[in-house]
Amino acid sequence: MKRRLIIILPLIALLVFLSVQVFMIVSIWGQEKENMLMRYQSLTREAAARLMAGKKVNGFEKAMDVTDKFAGLVIKGKLPELSKAADTAELRKKVLTQTYSILQKNEVLSSSTKEYIKKNGYSINYKSFIWISYLSLLTDGGQFIITDTVPDKSEIAKTVIVVESYREEHNNFVIEYVSLIDMTELGSLVFKKAFFSFLLITLSVLIVFLVFWVTWRNLIEERRLSGLKSDFINNMTHELKTPLSTITVAGRTLEKAQINSDPEKVLETAKMISKQSVNLNQLINTILEVSLLERTEFELDRQKVSVDELTHQIVASFLTSCDGCAVVKEDYKATGTSLSVDIVYFTTMVNNLLTNAVKYCDKDPVVLVSTATDNNYFHLTITDNGIGIPHEHTDHIFDKFYRVPYGNIHKTKGLGLGLYYVKRIATAHGGDVSVSSRPGRGSTFKIRLPL
Ligand code: ADP
Repeated sequence: MKRRLIIILPLIALLVFLSVQVFMIVSIWGQEKENMLMRYQSLTREAAARLMAGKKVNGFEKAMDVTDKFAGLVIKGKLPELSKAADTAELRKKVLTQTYSILQKNEVLSSSTKEYIKKNGYSINYKSFIWISYLSLLTDGGQFIITDTVPDKSEIAKTVIVVESYREEHNNFVIEYVSLIDMTELGSLVFKKAFFSFLLITLSVLIVFLVFWVTWRNLIEERRLSGLKSDFINNMTHELKTPLSTITVAGRTLEKAQINSDPEKVLETAKMISKQSVNLNQLINTILEVSLLERTEFELDRQKVSVDELTHQIVASFLTSCDGCAVVKEDYKATGTSLSVDIVYFTTMVNNLLTNAVKYCDKDPVVLVSTATDNNYFHLTITDNGIGIPHEHTDHIFDKFYRVPYGNIHKTKGLGLGLYYVKRIATAHGGDVSVSSRPGRGSTFKIRLPL
């Protein structure tokens, strides 16, 4: 329960933190957008006011003159392209389109505004346009309304700013229009403005994520190690108990009076005691060696040896000690190569691999020990026909205490230290060890040591 809380609480904190950052980004974005629109609104208004103050014009004078002439011609029916209009609706549309184009072509407000905005150091990447809300032609009989539309605010884009509204009456027409600008690139302008804040927020999110990820990984690793440790303690207890209980039983047997009459039995029991004591001693030594390995730096007592010969001797004595428990084929191609190694550690390393080749085999063990060299390295390869190692475990088998779980943990004895030891010895010699394996077919362990 506590463990779960340890994981869930930081997760919640992370989510809250992330939501706050997202909220901040959204509000900064909104705020900057608002500011930008207001800034442009005041800039464009200032530009219009300056035009008016300086030249006493609003920038639409010429546009209005041209429109007035155009309106006069329309009223008099002198424009052939308009007289062809099928109905009044079409006529209105054509007049309106033409008026728009006259205004757009002849107004000078937008160019002087752009100049002013540029002078103030702001971007002129916006679109300026005019919107006519009312237009009527003044005919003899009264007014001919071309358009009379009230703007629907919901249809106006959020990026559109109203600069000024105008109402003008001329000889031939009455017009109400608005000059507008559309901040088409508002997004990128705001982004540029708020870039530094966004960068800081993103960086802080990344840093928090990184810290969280590292902590999370450590936690997972710690959990894995604590699991491995408890497995190790279980295994060790089992390993220690087996020889101890054999010794205890043997001791009790020797205590019995009737056994004294059978010297053969006494000898057999004594041998059993001594064999189990040796086992016990070996076990304790392994544990002690590993804890020593952990505490101090590896100190190698290197000696130049003919490495093929040494390997052959190790194989031979291994076979003797295990009563020929395996068929070992030897293929040495590093003949004559002498290598500077710590003989004791090197022997332990090869022995551990040979022991495993036999231990993790469900048929008659056949092991191939081969050596080779290339320009820089000596290679020792030990291939077995054992049970193999499932792919997902090959990355971990060199870890301390790691044992591949096969359901029944005590089926094969071990403490998960043999390969850890192999790896440490190989790296202490400046080399490395690797494995390739096919479950059900066997495994190949390769040791590589620099020449
Ligand atoms: P131990 O043998 O004491 O469990 P090791 O460190 O020697 O510890 O090996 C770690 C694990 O790697 C073993 O538990 C076993 O599952 C697997 N393993 C090692 N060598 C072999 C092999 N030759 N074939 C199959 N599995 C192996």
